[in-house]
Amino acid sequence: MNIIKINNVQPLNNDFRQRTNEDIVQNDLNFDVNVSDECPICHFGIDMSNDKWINFHDISSKTQEKFNIISVHCCPHCHNGFVVIHHIKVNENVCIEKSQSVYPATAPNLQIDEDIRQISPEFYEIYNQCLIAKKNNLNHIYGMGFRKALEKLVKDYSIYSHREDEKWIRTNRKATLHKCIEKYFKDSDAKTALMACKWIGNNETHYENCNTDEDLELFEGLIEDVLYYIHREIRNKKAESINDMKGTKQL
Ligand SMILES: [Zn+2]
Repeated sequence: MNIIKINNVQPLNNDFRQRTNEDIVQNDLNFDVNVSDECPICHFGIDMSNDKWINFHDISSKTQEKFNIISVHCCPHCHNGFVVIHHIKVNENVCIEKSQSVYPATAPNLQIDEDIRQISPEFYEIYNQCLIAKKNNLNHIYGMGFRKALEKLVKDYSIYSHREDEKWIRTNRKATLHKCIEKYFKDSDAKTALMACKWIGNNETHYENCNTDEDLELFEGLIEDVLYYIHREIRNKKAESINDMKGTKQL
């Protein structure tokens, strides 16, 4: 985070706008705000020190102790718009940013293999939402979300690796997460991690939740291990197909 000065911040409140013309010099409306040097959507590094965005404030009275500065940005890399709301506290005529919110809310730069994103786009979406919840301290929510994300990942990958079972996995009630782990990951070194994920995840949804903060940290780490396993399997399949092709040519 860097601190920058923004100028000519426009009032959102029309009444205040009219009064501003009477008794406040417009150039007084300069504020120091905190900015991050990357786009919250594509995480590309962007120069936030320029003044290419538009800033508003919601001050309606000169005596109020808190207000917001709403900055509307457009990322020059992904061309998506985003909004940063700087929550400002006034202390003896000095304006200090206490916190900020960014919309759309996004997770930290989520590095998920492109092949896995293609195989299970819903896993990617749910997992991303979990990390947003975690970032916002929604600690009763994201553990349950991890459980849901895990089920999507396991089932989508099982369909990808066993096409012949797609209908059974999608429609049969007996195709539970447990059963899919047992059936499609039985010989893999990811099975231990997956089973532990299942137990921790199930706990998160129960009335009596005996998981600790450490268990939730472990849960996230185990999901990363499973992702690495699937990534390795996909890459291995690609390697096998190249070997098969080259073998045929030599014959
Ligand atoms: Zn961007």
